[in-house]
Amino acid sequence: MRKTDVLIIGGSAAGATAAVTARRHYPDKEVLLVRKEGKVMIPCGIPYIFGTLGDPAKNIIPDAMLTREGVKIAVETVEKIDVDKLVVSTHQGEIACERLVVAAGSLPGRLPVSGFDLDGAFPILKDIEHLAELQKRLQSAANVVVIGCGFIGIEFADEINKLGGKNITVLEIAPYCLSLAYDEEFCAEMQALIKSRGIDVRTNAKVAAIQGAGRVASVKLTSGEVIPADVVIFGVGAVPNVEMARAAGLKLGPTGAIAVDRAMRASHKNVFACGDCAEKISFFSGRPSPLRLASIATLEARIAGANLFSIRREHDGTVGVWSTAIGDLAMGTAGFTEGAARQNGYDCVSVEVEGPNRHPGGMPGAAPTKLKLVFERHTGTLLGGQVRGNASAGELINIVAACIQKRMLAEDIATFQMGTHPALTASPIAYHLVNAAEMAIARMRH
Ligand SMILES: Cc1cc2nc3c(=O)[nH]c(=O)nc-3n(C[C@H](O)[C@H](O)[C@H](O)COP(=O)(O)OP(=O)(O)OC[C@H]3O[C@@H](n4cnc5c(N)ncnc54)[C@H](O)[C@@H]3O)c2cc1C
Repeated sequence: MRKTDVLIIGGSAAGATAAVTARRHYPDKEVLLVRKEGKVMIPCGIPYIFGTLGDPAKNIIPDAMLTREGVKIAVETVEKIDVDKLVVSTHQGEIACERLVVAAGSLPGRLPVSGFDLDGAFPILKDIEHLAELQKRLQSAANVVVIGCGFIGIEFADEINKLGGKNITVLEIAPYCLSLAYDEEFCAEMQALIKSRGIDVRTNAKVAAIQGAGRVASVKLTSGEVIPADVVIFGVGAVPNVEMARAAGLKLGPTGAIAVDRAMRASHKNVFACGDCAEKISFFSGRPSPLRLASIATLEARIAGANLFSIRREHDGTVGVWSTAIGDLAMGTAGFTEGAARQNGYDCVSVEVEGPNRHPGGMPGAAPTKLKLVFERHTGTLLGGQVRGNASAGELINIVAACIQKRMLAEDIATFQMGTHPALTASPIAYHLVNAAEMAIARMRH
């Protein structure tokens, strides 16, 4: 039987980060990463294969980031885990280890409608051959339907639109696209942009069936409307990949993912889990969180990897930070939207500031940038933020996220020390974050 010190199942965001972190924290330990695919897709880059990148082969996590840290790689499919003996069985034999990290990720969510398995219906698998087949089918497709208008759905629709000459329809059951992540005014702006690019966005649209004889021909809505389709893409979320963990006897949590503690330890000694297959709790309530993101996966992996042989880090809970971009319009969100804060019982104050992200506003690269912050009224604690702007929105929202994670108050943010430059940032007089906090303080006082 082969032996290693640390065995990691999974080679994507969580597995790769856990492996590198383990080597950095425990350089004397051998780390073996076992994954089933020869080449691992960059999961967040998948939509860009179809337009901007043009080839799945351009969207690969380089093995060098593992091998230069001394991580060993085995391309094998794990079939069984013995969590008591710490032995993993693959199609090539058994491997024993001292510590096991399960980072087996997620699988695409299934829509409970007939026709889900028809030829031409594509769930989003993070698999190079599946994506190459989708790309091939898209070349000749005249009518493409994307189901789900979250960030994955809109990114897919916009990238496929870049191929030209296709009717693209995006279907969303909610009243707005992106409505789980942004307040309505942000959603409306993104929706208007997508429509202006020639994509047909249908909201309040519930799918009844995918229709076709063996091959996809159309999508039927519960309203009775039928939309022609040569290819249907499902952007309807992900479910944790836990069958192997369940069979091994690892405890699962309330959302069906592998139960973990704050140190990312699973229910069995010396077994850890991280990424999409691991249970998450909300930073705010401590309740189960359904969010599954690469950024969360890597955070959890940095915690798991550091804790393998002694506890060095703990998880504060998932804040939930992410961004998307269509053309030059970028949007970011962190923590609670105003709607979600109110739904969760918070008495809150929200403020919006808008201004250029350079100074003066005529500088190259300047774009009108809107920041909305949501504070708890009685304590002044920052609960959430949303940004709309150009590429700089991606980093601005990360600053907002750091303020949330450190439970900063409006007063802390109003006296935040920042550096500014005409070519790089908003003016120090009208710095979005500081001005929004100052306005919120005034509103909380009165
Ligand atoms: C189209 C798309 C776009 C996205 N964009 C973003 C984004 O912009 N930002 C963001 O934060 N998140 C994004 N996400 C979410 C992100 O992709 C996931 O949160 C992330 O991939 C989770 O990483 P993971 O390592 O936990 O799991 P996965 O990426 O699912 O990887 C699981 C790994 O485990 C391996 N594995 C599973 N079972 C076995 C087995 N039996 N034997 C061996 N190996 C096994 C797999 O082969 C794979 O290597 C996007 C997702 C999709 C689908």
